[in-house]
Amino acid sequence: MSVFPHVQFLVSAAQASQFPPDQGAEVAFAGRSNAGKSSAINTIVQRNGLARVSKTPGRTRLLNFFTLGPDRRIVDLPGYGYAAAPDADRRTWGPMIAALRERECLRGLVLIVDSRRGVAPEDENLIAWAREGGREMPVHVLLSKSDKLNRSESTKTLREAKATLAESATAQLFSAHDKTGVEEAQRTLQAWLKS
Ligand code: GDP
Repeated sequence: MSVFPHVQFLVSAAQASQFPPDQGAEVAFAGRSNAGKSSAINTIVQRNGLARVSKTPGRTRLLNFFTLGPDRRIVDLPGYGYAAAPDADRRTWGPMIAALRERECLRGLVLIVDSRRGVAPEDENLIAWAREGGREMPVHVLLSKSDKLNRSESTKTLREAKATLAESATAQLFSAHDKTGVEEAQRTLQAWLKS
């Protein structure tokens, strides 16, 4: 049986007033463009093509909310890291994620990091975003596309990521292609959404 049988697209938000009501539990997904975030979301919630919504024209710079169950949501943040992002995008990003951070229902951040690239400064910024303020939020890093690493590279990558992240986040290897780490990621998501 599917771990999340009731998944569906809820809404795309360009500003905080379009966010769903701040109730229940919500988990944010973020990562650099091309890190494998859409593939990770689709694999974790076992719904092929779900996160494709976030890639349709007009929605790529928006916050896309999906329902996993009654008052249980994930929110897919726009991929970041393109130096060429238009100024208008950069202006809306800050206020939007600041407003997201204010939400009582937000339980944690799943950060997708390409295992061959490692944690970048933009990723660190987002980790800081999750940990700032009075209500510190847990961060879980998925070291994506781990199928591209051999065994010893995988071990080294995980060890180095854990050392870099230290107390600021937990981390695991993940592959949407060979399904490495899918259950571990699902367990984290389920635990946060239950809280
Ligand atoms: P996003 O931009 O972060 O949403 O990334 P996508 O999920 O669209 O993936 C970006 C590219 O990486 C695509 O070409 C995917 O096929 C590829 N990709 C995503 N996940 C994996 C994976 O687990 N293994 C491999 N080898 N490629 C992946």
